[in-house]
Amino acid sequence: MKAKVYFADMHCRKQADNKTAKIEKLCEAVGLKNILKKDGLTAIKLHFGEMGNDTHLRPQLVRKVVDLVKQEKANPFLTDTNTLYSGSRKNSVDHLETAYMHGFSPATMDAPVIIADGLNGRNQVAVPVENLKYFKETYIAREIYEADSMVVLSHFKGHLVAGFGGAIKNLSMGCASFWGKRAQHDTKVRVDAEKCIACGSCIKICPAQALSMKKDGDKKSAFADRQKCIGCFECQTVCEPKAVVNEHDADLCNFAERIAEYAYGAVQNKRDKVVYLNFLLNITPDCDCVSWSDAPMVADIGILASADPVAIDKASYDLVTKAQSLHPMENNGINIDKFAHRWEKTHGYRQFEHAAAIGLGSLEYELITI
Ligand code: SF4
Ligand code: SF4
Repeated sequence: MKAKVYFADMHCRKQADNKTAKIEKLCEAVGLKNILKKDGLTAIKLHFGEMGNDTHLRPQLVRKVVDLVKQEKANPFLTDTNTLYSGSRKNSVDHLETAYMHGFSPATMDAPVIIADGLNGRNQVAVPVENLKYFKETYIAREIYEADSMVVLSHFKGHLVAGFGGAIKNLSMGCASFWGKRAQHDTKVRVDAEKCIACGSCIKICPAQALSMKKDGDKKSAFADRQKCIGCFECQTVCEPKAVVNEHDADLCNFAERIAEYAYGAVQNKRDKVVYLNFLLNITPDCDCVSWSDAPMVADIGILASADPVAIDKASYDLVTKAQSLHPMENNGINIDKFAHRWEKTHGYRQFEHAAAIGLGSLEYELITI
């Protein structure tokens, strides 16, 4: 049977059709009420955006979901997990400050904000998973694991390693503890000495002190110690000449598959207690983990809702593929895989293909416009 994916486009000429009204209709269509329990704890999982990024989800849209959950007498809390890399969300104190700065505070949201994996990302539950390709257990942030239900709100956009980020990525990297994130990355980087201009930016930012400067004759360049590297890719984000390369480029396919398996682990104890909303707005090439916001790849498309994380990501991906590109090099770009074009070494589609293969959801969907 095809999974149902509900879709609201972005056209609007009156208040009754504004984005919060569309969210209400989508939540009703997807059966939000059915996953909530009176007095139960509902995690509203989102990404608060790295400091400097301004294309993360708008607080007003998230507040609407909080209000809808409260209407059903459930107790919502906003949540995310700390990052592996250094930045403004590395620990819970910095993370909360960033969330508040971006408009996600108890005062504006009428709900608490709880970082799900504790002060330093180590508060986790080891969740057993069976018959998967890479993992026998997944390390999931405790406060997410212990919630009775979850609403996963995902800003759909590109990602330099995963290809794209949607519901599956929000569940996997987004719900994993420090150790869970490390397990998913499981790769190293190396520095192409020819391209390196020895600026030192990567050395300053590396959270594992894995990078140092070395000299070969007159030529200085950075060097990555593969024993220390935790594969967070932070150095790639600051290297302007693109001298930092993934040691296992071909393995980005495996990376996408590992993400799918962690998504499976994140919902093991609440498979029928989760709904997903994907926001196809500000579809930037980079994820919200970067401290900037690039111009969008395509115009705003709409908001999708589903009870199936695979179907909603596949439908979102297909809509972006079909959309007209705003990139001057893509020559309108209709029916071009924008994410693969922008991040040519990635295999984003393997996220939903592998997720479907392990039983997380369906690649077959029916798109229902509301
Ligand atoms: S060298 Fe490894 S640990 Fe350091 S920033 Fe780069 S990917 Fe992360
Ligand atoms: S950021 Fe790039 S160019 Fe600068 S030192 Fe590191 S590898 Fe070399």
